[in-house]
Amino acid sequence: MKNLPSAITLCEVGLRDGLQNEKTLIPTEKKVELLRGLIAAGFPVIEVGSFMHPKAVPQMADTDQVFQAIGEVPGVELRALIPNLRGVKRAADCGCKKVKLNVSASRQHNLKNLNMTPEESVAGFADCVQAAADNGIAISGSISMPFASPWEGRIPVSDIESIIEAYLKVGITEISLSDTSGMGAPAPVYELCAHVKEKYPQASWWLHFHNTRGLAMANILAAMEAGMTRFDGSFGGLGGCPFVPDAAGNISTEDVINMCDESGIRTGVDILKVMELSRTMRELLGHNLDSYVLRAGRAQDLIV
Ligand code: ZN
Repeated sequence: MKNLPSAITLCEVGLRDGLQNEKTLIPTEKKVELLRGLIAAGFPVIEVGSFMHPKAVPQMADTDQVFQAIGEVPGVELRALIPNLRGVKRAADCGCKKVKLNVSASRQHNLKNLNMTPEESVAGFADCVQAAADNGIAISGSISMPFASPWEGRIPVSDIESIIEAYLKVGITEISLSDTSGMGAPAPVYELCAHVKEKYPQASWWLHFHNTRGLAMANILAAMEAGMTRFDGSFGGLGGCPFVPDAAGNISTEDVINMCDESGIRTGVDILKVMELSRTMRELLGHNLDSYVLRAGRAQDLIV
């Protein structure tokens, strides 16, 4: 195949995006154990948790303790999702060195929930950027539903451009395009990725796909063809779609690694270690997970 990268960077988001959708609360020491396992598997970036209000997301209430227990790990970026300035303060207090903000690309969603346009939300992040800088914390931003939202359908490219420009204006240049509703499809993903990559060369990009409609892997390949090389995944395919009950979660990380291993794309992550952690998680949660490789084994696991 033409235009595929020789290597990609994977961020494991299962402990955050995956677990936040699970009712079974995982004890802090188990989370720390799983995090150590993910580090040992070779992930260069891991989303450890979030600093949302504990009442809003009870599963993430102990993110501070998880960061404190693990400390700094050389060569591995441990990040947390934050809602606002309070999140930067919690990050500073527990030793978290990388935070990520989020805004919805859906105007209706943003106006309904926050009474602000997405651009106004992003402009309000300026104080987070300042506080992060003051505390030696790196900061990134994500745009959820950039391809389409359940309220408006397709989002106009000009809307995405103006959100990206709002991020750049407050000094955030690392931006994640997060298909939270799983409405992306290969052609529009390719178009948007190729467009923003060319138009905003000063930005660096992450892609985050939910497998809500079975298109996450195809979307990753489309984004790769457009030159994108940073992708989120969730071990075991843990997680869900916040707007569609019973929908599939994030793309399973081991499925992505299997695809990369079979296609000569380096990830630096040991798939067997990830699969072992997915089995552990399956036991902890007491239900099956959405991972093809976990069910069928790797392509290279021949029958003997
Ligand atoms: Zn997500």
